[in-house]
Amino acid sequence: MVDSYGRIIRDLRISITDRCNFRCVYCMEPDVRFLPREDLLTVDEIVRVASITGSLGVRKIRLTGGEPTLHPQLGAIIGRIRATTSAEIAMITNASGLSPVSLRDWKAAGLTRLTVSIDSLKEDRFARLTRSTCTPATVLTGVEMALAEDLTPIKLNAVLMRGFNDDEATDLAWVARSLGVEVRFIEYMPLDSAHAWESSKWVPAAETRAAIERVYPLVACDDSDPSSTARTFRFADLPAESAARVGFIAPVSSPFCGACSRLRITADGMVRPCLFSTTEWDLRSPMRSGATDQELADILIDATWTKQAGHGITSPEFVQPERPMSAIGG
Ligand code: SAM
Ligand code: SF4
Repeated sequence: MVDSYGRIIRDLRISITDRCNFRCVYCMEPDVRFLPREDLLTVDEIVRVASITGSLGVRKIRLTGGEPTLHPQLGAIIGRIRATTSAEIAMITNASGLSPVSLRDWKAAGLTRLTVSIDSLKEDRFARLTRSTCTPATVLTGVEMALAEDLTPIKLNAVLMRGFNDDEATDLAWVARSLGVEVRFIEYMPLDSAHAWESSKWVPAAETRAAIERVYPLVACDDSDPSSTARTFRFADLPAESAARVGFIAPVSSPFCGACSRLRITADGMVRPCLFSTTEWDLRSPMRSGATDQELADILIDATWTKQAGHGITSPEFVQPERPMSAIGG
């Protein structure tokens, strides 16, 4: 799948559910209305889409949501995708539902790596940010369990918001050092359900980096994948081979659209060429009315061709997508 700017699609993000047990303020504030159950892709449909994209050159499939671990048939989804494509299978989770047994099962089914979201190490703030009963300790225990199962390289995702948790960059970097994982700071994006994004709540990646460097000097890694969303650094005082890293994903201050290799499928089977697309391509209806694999492949190919040059977040004409991140699949 190639777009009109010559970018090749190698990464697919499939949202396997729009449901979530958290209500993060930057994602589901004040609340979201979930899709009717019959609109969600079935396991067969998720596997079929994954398999078709595998035959179209996708090399990495990331399961996302909502919260993917809430899907009652997650193990089957992973195992059946594994059986139909050679693409690597990764997952992003809030880590509230991890256990050694579930991680072992998912790994045996074909999951290779995990990204875990954690925005605060302070219990009260974590509760305020995620509006859940989970705690940072539970998330960190989940990360340790995933390390024990070798679902590596493990990445931590953190969204900093001014006035909420923007003073925690160094503490989160310390976690990366002590666990030997990469923590990636994602700039807060206008993808919240309330459409309440304001630049005053946004923390630029450069500011986060400067705060970390005051305590832990960083060295740019030259092994970064050019299509990666993150600029990655290692800690100057740790050996170069250490897995402890800091990454910055700066879609607002330094968009990386030029090297984008991603396509997204929402939980109700819509193709989104970009996180910020305002147009979606329906795969579910044709699938449910007897479309062949070739016809579905054609929809994916056509949708890819329309991928916009960039998201234009900072442009005055920018229009925030109707759906929040939880429904698009982050
Ligand atoms: N529930 C899982 C989780 O939170 O990891 C997976 C889905 S979540 C939508 C995927 C990622 O999107 C998370 O790391 C979350 O922090 C990020 N995210 C959600 N809303 C965002 C926003 N408005 N700006 C930046 N990142 C956001
Ligand atoms: Fe749920 Fe993830 Fe959105 Fe938080 S960011 S509300 S955990 S989908």
